[in-house]
Amino acid sequence: AATLSKSYTLTLLPGDGIGPEVISVAKNALQLVGSVEGIEFKFKEMPMGGAALDLTGVPLPEETLSAAKESDAVLLGAIGGYKWDNNEKHLKPETGLLQLRAGLQVFANLRPATVLPQLVDASTLKKEVAEGVDLMVVRELTGGIYFGKPRGFGKNENGEETGFNTEVYAANELGIDHVGCRVIVVENNNIQFVVENGNASMLWRKIVTNIASEFPDVELSHMYVDNAAMQLVRNPKQFDTIVTNNIFGDILSDEASMITGSIGMLPSASLGASGPGLFEPIHGSAPDIAGQDKANPLATVLSAAMLLKYGLGEEKAAQRIEAAVFDALDRGYRTGDIYSAGLKLVGCKEMGEEVLKSIDSKV
Ligand code: ATP
Ligand code: MG
Repeated sequence: AATLSKSYTLTLLPGDGIGPEVISVAKNALQLVGSVEGIEFKFKEMPMGGAALDLTGVPLPEETLSAAKESDAVLLGAIGGYKWDNNEKHLKPETGLLQLRAGLQVFANLRPATVLPQLVDASTLKKEVAEGVDLMVVRELTGGIYFGKPRGFGKNENGEETGFNTEVYAANELGIDHVGCRVIVVENNNIQFVVENGNASMLWRKIVTNIASEFPDVELSHMYVDNAAMQLVRNPKQFDTIVTNNIFGDILSDEASMITGSIGMLPSASLGASGPGLFEPIHGSAPDIAGQDKANPLATVLSAAMLLKYGLGEEKAAQRIEAAVFDALDRGYRTGDIYSAGLKLVGCKEMGEEVLKSIDSKV
């Protein structure tokens, strides 16, 4: 093994349901790839979500947040489950996730949606439409209508019930946001779509156009959100990077994920201007299969690859993990969610072991 030239502290937040199962696989993959690449990882495992609620009474204990802030990157499993759905204290495990994102100030959420050649048949779209889709949705994560004030629910002057929300974006937030996106845009064939609508979009358009002018090799197009939603299922290959606000990004990234057809395969990254990034699979805690060794760990393993690439700048190590995932798929291993006849059906642990073998065999 190479001598360990670099050392990083990673906070692991296994969370609930299948979270601990998939985090354990990703941890092993990181450890092995670290030993190959000469990188030492110090793991700090902390309670979060329902697990933390049971243990400490809050979904994001202070010790967990401070450990996350002090580390080089954070890898999260999944949060929540039926058990906490009717919580007397109205403290939901998911509120811990919002607090964590706010605490780490991660405002840019990156969600790749890639149709892997091995899994084309899993797509909800026809093969010729799905084949070769490789896009990234960049969603603003900490502003917009989910946080804007004023908001309310009450009665108007005619006594009718009314409800309202406000979308607010400040120019400086968007500026930082798009500085955060530079790298992504340049790495993806330099085509960027900005999805917008309504009045806050005038600010988006102005700022994005200004920033794009500093990057002449970035091709910038604008698209309204209703059209983007339609184009995503009509011809997803036209998209490369989609940059959009919080609510549209929420919706479009879910739509894009269904094109790939495999929720158990999709990673995500949330980045700020500085400080540790937050990396997690897009799926939830899957309480229906938790504890049964059925979960697909690859979304979390690929999140670990994003952690290496975007969180630590360890591009080679990231590529090693991605290549190992593809190799395990090429060798026919499948968890239940991506299984089709004639292939090798395995559980979470065994899939993890096959990824480790693939890392080993490529050294
Ligand atoms: P959330 O509200 O946190 O998004 P959810 O309950 O809406 O969670 P998931 O927990 O992601 O959704 O589960 C949706 C379905 O997908 C379930 O049937 C679950 O078993 C399945 N699923 C989710 N993640 C995986 C995985 N990694 N491997 C296999 N199946 C999964
Ligand atoms: Mg849900």
